[in-house]
Amino acid sequence: MTPFSFDRASDADHALHLAQRGGRYLGGGTNLVDLMRETVERPAALVDVTALSRDIAETADGGLMIGAAVSNTALAAHPLVRSRYPVLARAILAGASAQIRNMATVGGNLLQRTRCTYFYDVEGSRCNKRQPGQGCDAKDGFNRIHAILGASNACVATHPSDMCVALAALDATVHLSSPGGTRTLPLTELHRLPGDHPELDTMLEPGELITAVELPSSSLAAHSTYRKVRDRASYAFALVSVAAALEVADGQVRDVRIALGGVAHKPWRAMKAEAVLRGGPASVSAFRAAAEAELAAAVPLRDNGFKIELATRTITAVLAELAGVDA
Ligand SMILES: Cc1cc2nc3c(=O)[nH]c(=O)nc-3n(C[C@H](O)[C@H](O)[C@H](O)COP(=O)(O)OP(=O)(O)OC[C@H]3O[C@@H](n4cnc5c(N)ncnc54)[C@H](O)[C@@H]3O)c2cc1C
Ligand code: SF4
Repeated sequence: MTPFSFDRASDADHALHLAQRGGRYLGGGTNLVDLMRETVERPAALVDVTALSRDIAETADGGLMIGAAVSNTALAAHPLVRSRYPVLARAILAGASAQIRNMATVGGNLLQRTRCTYFYDVEGSRCNKRQPGQGCDAKDGFNRIHAILGASNACVATHPSDMCVALAALDATVHLSSPGGTRTLPLTELHRLPGDHPELDTMLEPGELITAVELPSSSLAAHSTYRKVRDRASYAFALVSVAAALEVADGQVRDVRIALGGVAHKPWRAMKAEAVLRGGPASVSAFRAAAEAELAAAVPLRDNGFKIELATRTITAVLAELAGVDA
């Protein structure tokens, strides 16, 4: 491991000050420390940000403000999350292990990096995300876990977070701080598609700090769920996952939100499927047609064509479950 310095920030302003000297923020360390051990990342300085807010507080309009240092465990267990945003609690509990969720923070979960095996293989594989311009060994390699939507010639990696898929479906907003001031960004605009610059995972400026995640008030969100399809029942990342919220009245879809995990370089908000569904019948055939409309743009790689049908079936099954009809 490369030598590095370690500082502990007492609050957000202190963290920004320490990071100005080139430090990388450290949450629970469950991803960044792994990447340092593998020498994928070699930061010269770490700034521990676990003293940032650990509060989960109701906002004036009935939403929730979640501090960046809240642990994944605390967020999934919070009574207001469980009752008003069940999709979020379920997504978090579908990820990692109890021990990792105890350590992992909200800020760190948002910025965890891809699980592409070639990205981790520093000695043996070419990777444009790790080293721009080097090439991508996944594109023509073993790419069963890789992207089917929004990929580029430069990178076909997927975003690994379960929590972010739920946050995308919930229209969450990310609160950011930098020496220049504060700003907010919709969660759906935080992560990037790879394009020609897969080394950039997000739209964050260097040194920008996540201070909180805000969930808007939503009656729809109370009727939501998350389903994760993976190779084994625990301790595995999603091949495909679906976060959805659905409101049905008189057999018609009044409102719907759908986001997909395991299919793209970012949590994939299924806008096409939502548009097809809104105002139409809440039937299995309509759910399937909406899923097919979303997946029409999918481009399979050598080993991951199965994800197209898997995603289509999972969207259909999740919506049928929420509508209370047999899939
Ligand atoms: C064995 C294993 C299995 C896993 N399985 C799953 C799974 O099934 N599903 C899933 O979703 N995840 C899974 N994970 C990943 C896990 O959820 C992440 O490692 C965790 O959420 C990262 O949070 P952290 O606080 O530890 O982040 P860290 O490792 O501390 O940091 C991650 C990144 O976020 C940055 N960062 C941290 N806090 C901030 C902040 N406030 N502002 C700006 N930048 C910040 C860091 O600089 C770093 O780049 C797994 C991890 C392991 C080790
Ligand atoms: S898919 Fe992306 S992360 Fe994986 S090897 Fe290719 S460039 Fe690297």
